[in-house]
Amino acid sequence: MRFAIFSDIHANLEALEAVLADARDRRCTHFVCLGDVVGYNANPRECIERVRALDWPVVKGNHDEEATLSASSERFNELAERAIQWTRDNLTDQDKEWLRSLPLQKQVHDFTIVHATLDTPGQWGYVFKTLDAVASFTYQRTGVCFFGHTHVPMVFIRGQSGVRQERKEQIRIEPGRKYFINAGSVGQPRDGNWRAAYCIYDIKSNLVELLRVKYDLATAQKKIAKAALPQPLAERLAIGR
Ligand code: ZN
Repeated sequence: MRFAIFSDIHANLEALEAVLADARDRRCTHFVCLGDVVGYNANPRECIERVRALDWPVVKGNHDEEATLSASSERFNELAERAIQWTRDNLTDQDKEWLRSLPLQKQVHDFTIVHATLDTPGQWGYVFKTLDAVASFTYQRTGVCFFGHTHVPMVFIRGQSGVRQERKEQIRIEPGRKYFINAGSVGQPRDGNWRAAYCIYDIKSNLVELLRVKYDLATAQKKIAKAALPQPLAERLAIGR
């Protein structure tokens, strides 16, 4: 069993198709999504369609939630707000109903998936630091949990001597430890690398790989301009911020 783990697709269809193709080339047999299918980029409907058609386990992200509200919750900055308003106008009631139905967390096979944190999944806290990971680990019942939300691939490991953070591309899952792994973002990476991020969890070999994939950036940017979404949303894709 080889799971491809996708997070923060954010309506970037070019990036989604590139990671899907890459995961299939790498013989992935199962797919999961850690939320934020929509928001920021220009293809929310198409991305929902792809994810639904493949019938993956999916958890809800904060943009997925925000897209289903009729009025803004005032949690978003100006750019995110303008994009989510556009997203609301461009989704069908059926799309919104599906987004609304997504759970905040879910167990898949022997691991857990969540968008933000396990301690308060509906509060959308950001885990960048070890201390934030410690709180989430308290609620983690499986050896491995995948999360997203920060758009920065990152690994936290809880062992005998406490929690440490690592930024490596391959993680061997060992018994007696817990792993809280950020898969990065498919559609809007923010670690200074423009390539789409995702990871593969190979159950049999106990190996997690964090991967990067080139995609048709120019097309994604043109669609943002054509949709009259804010131009900085196109510019940031090129620099991975
Ligand atoms: Zn996101």
